[in-house]
Amino acid sequence: MRAVLRFVDYKTIRDPLGEVTYQARCVSGNDEECGAESMVLGGDEAVNDWMVEHTAQTGHERFKRTFEDYALVEPKS
Ligand SMILES: [Zn+2]
Repeated sequence: MRAVLRFVDYKTIRDPLGEVTYQARCVSGNDEECGAESMVLGGDEAVNDWMVEHTAQTGHERFKRTFEDYALVEPKS
């Protein structure tokens, strides 16, 4: 029970100093995924632009997007 009570005393927030990054990978293809990957980008606009460009060039329309951020765990005030 003690562990549960300790857990309640903390909260997690997004670290405002940590960069949020985005990346997309093309998963189009029937037998084999295309697998083309964007660079790790600093905004969802940039990753959207990359996907639109890839679709325009290849006709591929399905992507997997990955988001990363930093989190802080702080005592509840
Ligand atoms: Zn592709």
